[in-house]
Amino acid sequence: MSIPEAEIARRVSVLSDGIRRGGLRLTHQRLEIAREVAGSETHPDVETVYQSVRRRVPTVSLDTIYRTMATLVDLGLLKRVSVPTASTRYDPDTSRHHHFICLGCGLVRDVHDETLDQVGIPGAASRLGTVDSVEVQFRGLCNSCMETADEGGDS
Ligand SMILES: [Zn+2]
Ligand SMILES: [Zn+2]
Repeated sequence: MSIPEAEIARRVSVLSDGIRRGGLRLTHQRLEIAREVAGSETHPDVETVYQSVRRRVPTVSLDTIYRTMATLVDLGLLKRVSVPTASTRYDPDTSRHHHFICLGCGLVRDVHDETLDQVGIPGAASRLGTVDSVEVQFRGLCNSCMETADEGGDS
């Protein structure tokens, strides 16, 4: 389960364009941020991106990561995924999909399902305003957290 090279390259170029369009210079640091985010399937948080990019670009600051990612979100090129029990995560895949979220360890994984994609917008929601997107979150415990819970006995 990994993202094809061609798709990563496509995402990097879209994100790079976005950085420029957002009025930021496409520096080496920001390009590395785009690369990191584009190749990630784990829906990383800002801190995780910071730790990975810092290995290649030791001078990068947490603030640069924050500002770059916030710009990409504003431009609609990254999606924020809020996790009730962990920090906000970022998703480079802005196409329609859903998420499984582990409340134990904060794991976030994509869920693709045609039936869910066809869920209509009920009147109860559309009466309140315009709906741009619908996303279903499945929250619970991932398999590995379930195993740990079984072994440990108490939580
Ligand atoms: Zn878990
Ligand atoms: Zn996702």
